Amino acid sequence: MGVWALLLALVLLLWAGVLLAFARPLVARWREPVLRCPVLVIESDDWGAGSLAQKEALARLSALLQGVRDLHGRAAVMTLGVVLEVPDGARIAASGGKEYHALPLTDARFEGVRRAMLDGIQSGVFVPQLHGQCHYWPAAVTAVAQTDGVVRDWLCATDLAATEDLPSHLQSRWVDARSLPSRTLPVDAIQHAVAAEAQAYHAVFGEQPQVAVATTFVWTDAVEAAWRDAGVNVIITPGRRATCRNTRGQPACVDASMLTGECSLAGQVYLVRDVYFEPALGHAPQRVMEGLQSRSVQGRACLVETHRFNFLRAPEASCAALESALQQALAACPAVRFTSPLELANALLARDADWVETRLRQRLRAWRARLDEIPRFRRIAQLSGLALPLRLLGGAA
Ligand SMILES: [Zn+2]
Repeated sequence: MGVWALLLALVLLLWAGVLLAFARPLVARWREPVLRCPVLVIESDDWGAGSLAQKEALARLSALLQGVRDLHGRAAVMTLGVVLEVPDGARIAASGGKEYHALPLTDARFEGVRRAMLDGIQSGVFVPQLHGQCHYWPAAVTAVAQTDGVVRDWLCATDLAATEDLPSHLQSRWVDARSLPSRTLPVDAIQHAVAAEAQAYHAVFGEQPQVAVATTFVWTDAVEAAWRDAGVNVIITPGRRATCRNTRGQPACVDASMLTGECSLAGQVYLVRDVYFEPALGHAPQRVMEGLQSRSVQGRACLVETHRFNFLRAPEASCAALESALQQALAACPAVRFTSPLELANALLARDADWVETRLRQRLRAWRARLDEIPRFRRIAQLSGLALPLRLLGGAA
């Protein structure tokens, strides 16, 4: 008897040690709100200044989204991460490639693109959010163009520029990547730039941006503080924050990781977008449905990233894939809700009882489903036997 009691005490002690060692991520996942029903948002970046073919692509997407509705009759929502300028190639070329000039989204030639965005907003299927004044830091691109012929040709082209064609590291707006590793931008330059882009956003959409998503997911505390001053309350993240481009040009210097509902230093709410669906790259529609299912088990919203290029390079196939993805999601999760990031963030903040689960059993079940993502925890829980009692939490899945 004494031996068994001692063994039991040792096991309990071991489990307590494991739980203590992982206390931080375990508690964070317990505090993260649990959603009562599946939630799906399609997030699409890079729209705005640029190719005039966007007009037709946006009209097609708007019609498609209006045709897919959730149980509440709400049409599927696609956010538009908006870019507010591209280079004015002719003027830059006239300066010998030395001076940067911008072609803003308010320019008359973008009338059709603006109209298509605003029509979709009016119809309730598009929700704009701030992606950036431009998809690069102008001084960095201009500096590189002095020695790099490809970048120079891109900057001086008379066709409307596609920022997708820039070298990846130059597509980050919030670092100076003229040389690698990138350098931090001066805080006052960031403040200036954000204030200007919030104004430019207002000129097109008639309101301040409330949601922001950094280009290439590289941004810093200083950017968040400037966003707050410009009225941004919600930040879309991939769950971690990269703050530089390393010597190989990749996003790096990760200084923070975040879960949905956590707050930035400046006070914004973070949301996590971590399902990738780029049909033009061969991603199958099931990806969205599977992403929605797994996040629903975790009590999380499914934010799906898909870029403009899908709908410009392969419009028909990409629209068909998106429609199929939405239909499959509806079939697999009939209770799914279509919504916008701002509505979602507001519901989380208000702990809205329509959205946020309060029942213990359901919360425990979602929490348990979140634990597998904690690095090393799953393996250690299995080795120590802790996985067994955890599996019993909240009843059978
Ligand atoms: Zn982008």
